[in-house]
Amino acid sequence: MSVAQAARSNGEADPAVDFDAVIIGAGVSGLYQLYRLRELGLRVRVFETGSGVGGTWYWNRYPGARFDSESYTYAYSFSQELLDEWNWNERFAGQAETERYLNHVADKFDLRRDIQFNSRVAGARYCEETRSWDVVLEDGRRYGTRFLITAIGVLSAPTMPRIAGVESFRGQSFHTHYWPKEPVSFEGKRVAVIGTGATAVQAITEIAKTVGHLTVFQRTPNWCAPLHNARIGEDEMRRIRASYPEIFARCNESPGCFIHKPDRQSTHEVSPEEREIFWEKLYGEPGFGIWQGNFRDILTDRAANALISEFIARKIRQRVKEPIVAEKLIPKNHGFGTRRVPLESGYYEVYNQPNVKLVDIKTPIERIIPTGIRTSDAEYEFDMIIYATGFDAITGTFDRIDIRGIDGVSLKDKWKDGPQTYLGVLVEDFPNMLMVMGPHAALGNFPRAVEYNVDWVTGLIRHARDRGVTRIEATAAGVAQWTDHVKASAEGLLFNEIDSWMTGVNRNVEGKQTRKIMRYSGGHPVFREHCDAVVADGYRTLALG
Ligand code: NAP
Repeated sequence: MSVAQAARSNGEADPAVDFDAVIIGAGVSGLYQLYRLRELGLRVRVFETGSGVGGTWYWNRYPGARFDSESYTYAYSFSQELLDEWNWNERFAGQAETERYLNHVADKFDLRRDIQFNSRVAGARYCEETRSWDVVLEDGRRYGTRFLITAIGVLSAPTMPRIAGVESFRGQSFHTHYWPKEPVSFEGKRVAVIGTGATAVQAITEIAKTVGHLTVFQRTPNWCAPLHNARIGEDEMRRIRASYPEIFARCNESPGCFIHKPDRQSTHEVSPEEREIFWEKLYGEPGFGIWQGNFRDILTDRAANALISEFIARKIRQRVKEPIVAEKLIPKNHGFGTRRVPLESGYYEVYNQPNVKLVDIKTPIERIIPTGIRTSDAEYEFDMIIYATGFDAITGTFDRIDIRGIDGVSLKDKWKDGPQTYLGVLVEDFPNMLMVMGPHAALGNFPRAVEYNVDWVTGLIRHARDRGVTRIEATAAGVAQWTDHVKASAEGLLFNEIDSWMTGVNRNVEGKQTRKIMRYSGGHPVFREHCDAVVADGYRTLALG
């Protein structure tokens, strides 16, 4: 029985909805949410802006785009058949392989028939009378739905820099997020990259392989560490497949859902020699171990953080031949790991190439001009400008949809001083809106977190369906308690003192200049405990009607 049918059988007014659930987004979250809701027998429609599935992995097809999480930890775990049949080619899969994987999932489970592509949701308004949402697409089409599920990711609203003259440039220009599907050649071209975040670090390294001349405009350097990618052979894939249960269990035990768990020791408990050996080992190993599997206090203790930062700085000095350039690449305003650590495959060596120049904040960009870029001390001519300037993260994608709850209250206004949620899933005054990986949820290795989030949302909808419940809302007390808990969980973490997308700062977006608590920092195991407790308690902390 669908939710709408349940409502009718309870003698309620015909809800007059087209769907039991509308899901916004056909990325990693939306695909799995569709799969689960279909299992409940609901009428579901997914609206997706792109012309294909994959979300992040559909859009970000810039050169060098790939996982920083081990491919086999990133896979969905819900289907044994899927795990049995899919072979990963690389330890850290590139964008093309991941997009292929998500297409395979969509085909295997016949998901496409409920996905409406090229359909951007412009707005959604809650109607108390019908207990449903009126969803409006950019082209004006409207649909009624009982539940509105946002599966819009945390890094889906790209931002261009607020630099005068962007429109005036006469050469080619791209934001990395909107990279074209057709191949782009850099051969013989004078290329500029603006930005040095995780995206830029990957793109710069790849572009430098074929470019005529590359100029990197760096405002803030980031602490990068080696990715150590490699191919996965048949034998290794067999071993991985046999260990999936342990791999997923290990991920679920770690704070970030990564395969890497923090070391139990403090940095100060071991001798400088032992420290050095441990850090050399981590630096030589694949993936986020150096960030997520390091001593337990590197992200909370200033002295510990200074020591690991100095270790990485030494590595940068060893790898970059020109000392002045090396110093420019070493962050001075934040410690290692207090921003998301970009993983790299030869990034620092790029700056040893004679055809690569680093322009840093000492000579900031003043404007984009028709022929290139003007800084405070020079004019540079370019054939191509690449904006690797990041995203209006976490709440940014919500802000770009006109979401209105009870009495037309705007979600953007409600969150202008920072998000307020219950479990990162529900918002007071926005009944029947459920967020998968919303603000205040625990981030990390995305699909691991997504599977839990989707299952939780599905469980709640099942509960509603089975009881003829047609209205689900967070209570004011629940939201206050969770929002306070999220803030408390972030106390003492050094990343809170730093501007980055993780603290909601984006200088290119009005109103996003000050740090806010955007995500849950208590770790996934504790996050799940809280969410499980709500279920065990029969959802009594929610207003169900
Ligand atoms: P980002 O980390 O926010 O980096 C944006 C870059 O653009 C920063 O260096 C920023 O400088 C610079 N920038 C922005 N506006 C500018 C301006 N007006 N003038 C000069 N520079 C400007 O964004 P991102 O690199 O796209 O990465 C975002 C996140 O996506 C990552 O942290 C990661 O979580 C995810 N990601 C994941 C992968 C992966 O899994 N492999 C790959 C790529 C990205 P400031 O630092 O000074 O603001």
